[in-house]
Amino acid sequence: MVAIPGPSITPDRVLAAMHRPMPNIYQGPLVDVSNSIFADLPAIARTEGKPFMVIGNGHAAWQMAISNTLNTDKKVLVLESGRFAFFWGEMASMSGFDVEHVPGSDRGPVDPAVVHERLAQDTEHEIQAVLVVLTDTATGVRNDIKAIRAAIDAADHPALFMVDAIASLGCEPYEMDAWGVDLTVAASQKGLMTPPGIGLVWANDKALAAHDNANARVGYVDWEERMNVDEHYQYYGGTPPIPLLYALREALDMIAEEGGLEAVWARHEVLAGAVWAAVDAWSTPGGLENNIPDPAHRSLATTTVNAGSIDLEQLHLRTERDTGLTLGFGIGSDNPRFRIGHMGHLNPPMILGTLATTEATLLAMGAPLGGSGIAAATNHIAQALKH
Ligand SMILES: *Cc1c(COP(=O)(O)O)cnc(C)c1O
Repeated sequence: MVAIPGPSITPDRVLAAMHRPMPNIYQGPLVDVSNSIFADLPAIARTEGKPFMVIGNGHAAWQMAISNTLNTDKKVLVLESGRFAFFWGEMASMSGFDVEHVPGSDRGPVDPAVVHERLAQDTEHEIQAVLVVLTDTATGVRNDIKAIRAAIDAADHPALFMVDAIASLGCEPYEMDAWGVDLTVAASQKGLMTPPGIGLVWANDKALAAHDNANARVGYVDWEERMNVDEHYQYYGGTPPIPLLYALREALDMIAEEGGLEAVWARHEVLAGAVWAAVDAWSTPGGLENNIPDPAHRSLATTTVNAGSIDLEQLHLRTERDTGLTLGFGIGSDNPRFRIGHMGHLNPPMILGTLATTEATLLAMGAPLGGSGIAAATNHIAQALKH
């Protein structure tokens, strides 16, 4: 079983939906499915903005977002809280944009006060856009998007506010319009339970208007063709990713059947709490610990565990080879750490299995543990089941 922070587990129903012969791509059922997905996508990001799809991964969505909205004569401000906003900024640099990185903590969220201070200095409005991630998949932090918006507003700054929600869209609350986000990017393979291959971008009117001034547009991902559609295939810049569309349709239906996003978020909250309870119980001074000390700033989709002196190579080797559990490698830091993904198609038996198996492996390795994580996680779920 994979317990990495993406790609997440693909439900059998989603896999089965993909298995079909190729249809007519110009009319008929495929076009109906495609239209139904475009109709449903705004609600997934909680926006009235326009959704775009790009055949590709999250990086493709990054590219679509920046190349359709940015101008090379102005600056892009990248708010770091780990690695992923940094990588997005690197892509913007490679694409010819002038990027300024605001370094952040490796163990906590972006500080809105720092954002306010930087934007307040920018009286000439050289900064055209602010880029941040909702969840940083390297550190496991969840940024307070509403608070960052408030900081931008307090500085009375007109920059576009662009959020990468790739890791946790469909896992934790995200309200694009209510939180004042101008553009959101996501991808199919994490909270959305669909195999990799669909990048998603949502743009509000302000982001769409920025397209007119974007001077480094890239043909394949350009919104021009995709906004002025005569033929259905223009939504995709060519042949649609047919099996993935059927997969995404099924995944969106599953979210609706569960009771909608609120129900899915609530499930993730319980499961994330179980993971945190286990990690806290395992913790010892100088040993294992949650990388994000403050629970209020933890992602509901993925947890990064600082490993202390534990032999990570052995942990990964033994879990995968001896138990069939694949944990996520630590990334973006010299500090030894591993990651547990808890996004998408998961329930208590799966999470408790992941935690018990991790604990069994740690015990087999003779790792110092503060206590039984699995007892703590079970207790956490028991409390949730009372409600
Ligand atoms: C996974 C992830 C990405 C990259 O997505 P790919 O599909 O691998 O290109 C970008 N940002 C965040 C926050 C992610 O979690």
